[in-house]
Amino acid sequence: MMDPLQMEWAMNESFRALPSVEELLQNHTLRGYERKVGRAVVVDAVRASLDATRANIRAGHAAPMPALLIDDITARIEKSVQPTLTRVINASGVILHTNLGRAPLSQDALHAIQDTAASYSNLEYDLDAGERGSRYIHAEELIKKLTGAEAALVVNNNAAAVMFILRAFAEHKQVIVSRGQLVEIGGGFRVPDVLRESGAQMVEVGTTNRTRASDFENGINANTALLLRVHPSNFRVIGFTAEVSLEELSALGHKHKLVVVDDLGSGALLETTTYGLAHEPMPQESLRAGADLITFSGDKLLGGPQAGIIVGKKEFVEKLKAHPLARALRVDKLTLAALQATLLHYLKSEAAQKIPVWQMISAQLDVLEQRANVWCERWKKFGLDASVVDALSTVGGGSLPGETLPTRAVALQVSSPHAFMEKLRAQQPPILARIENNRVLFDPRTVLPHDESALLDAVESASRILAH
Ligand SMILES: *Cc1c(COP(=O)(O)O)cnc(C)c1O
Repeated sequence: MMDPLQMEWAMNESFRALPSVEELLQNHTLRGYERKVGRAVVVDAVRASLDATRANIRAGHAAPMPALLIDDITARIEKSVQPTLTRVINASGVILHTNLGRAPLSQDALHAIQDTAASYSNLEYDLDAGERGSRYIHAEELIKKLTGAEAALVVNNNAAAVMFILRAFAEHKQVIVSRGQLVEIGGGFRVPDVLRESGAQMVEVGTTNRTRASDFENGINANTALLLRVHPSNFRVIGFTAEVSLEELSALGHKHKLVVVDDLGSGALLETTTYGLAHEPMPQESLRAGADLITFSGDKLLGGPQAGIIVGKKEFVEKLKAHPLARALRVDKLTLAALQATLLHYLKSEAAQKIPVWQMISAQLDVLEQRANVWCERWKKFGLDASVVDALSTVGGGSLPGETLPTRAVALQVSSPHAFMEKLRAQQPPILARIENNRVLFDPRTVLPHDESALLDAVESASRILAH
């Protein structure tokens, strides 16, 4: 053991042994990098590396050998010129994983983006008339056909759609909403906050578990503008519960000349019960129930790009289109290209075959098992303790709470599941799996076919690193 004085002396020696920023910049390798990526990037990496090294020395480590310091700096330079947003392989079994970008797009949607983005397009040009056209038509007609709505409008996301409607129809006025629907969707979307930010005044009625039509009726006064229903998409209330049906709410709203709005969240265009799931509300149903405006996401169960879709009565949609916020919330051409391609899958009745989210939901258990078997055999050959197990996938993304789909996953028995998961995340591309019963689970349902070989390699490479 060194005494404190000796330790301080050793530490000071280590600090003195560190080269300066200027000295490091003269290094041959780093000068090469400077020519390639510019001085600013190299200087940043040198400073960051020296800061980290000093922290290490303070923690009791010796100064690194010069060659190691250069290695650390070059690794930092390499990393800093890589994009931070990258592809990730989702083996977690959560289909609409909000942190992983929700819905992967179909091949047609990708081609549409590529096609539209690499050239000019008729985004706002009417090719028949030879004059200025509207960007809205590209998705609107399709949405109208698919939902039966009189009119439609697409904005940046569903949160924007809800905020926009509240602002356009209820600024400085009152909006009545059931206490059972004052939900937080996640990612900062809380119904009370959205209402406040829109400039509307929230009037809560009913209780957490039970709200009746009479609660709404008693809440209506001369200042009321809108009745709002929010689909509590990410949780379920069970037991002694009651909510007002959309039919009742619409009838009540129309009797009092109020706008009735239904925020569906996910809003499925296909019937989810076909796939053994609970029923997820569909925009068609809300229209039939009499809602004036209905909103849903483009990248949840629709399986398309991030967007907020508004459907409903023409007079209300027209008012939105004429509102100054419409310009601020408008979607770009890449979104429209992907959305149109996604909607066309529904029109052609090929959504379940062509849209990844629906392919995953509709994947057959025997197919999942086959894939799991192939992975399992390969990892066993590699020397890993792998087995195929029964597991459950979930839809996620704030839809179908508590609903699961039976799957067959590969379970890896490793000494430290958390350390293994960390190594998986450090792979290129990174892998996200999940831990269950102290084993690392890989669910084939959410692994896209074109990611499969990368996944197989990455797992082996992660276990190789841990073995050393
Ligand atoms: C997900 C969700 C939103 C937010 O939609 P984004 O497209 O993520 O903006 C709003 N309301 C409900 C009920 C939701 O489920």
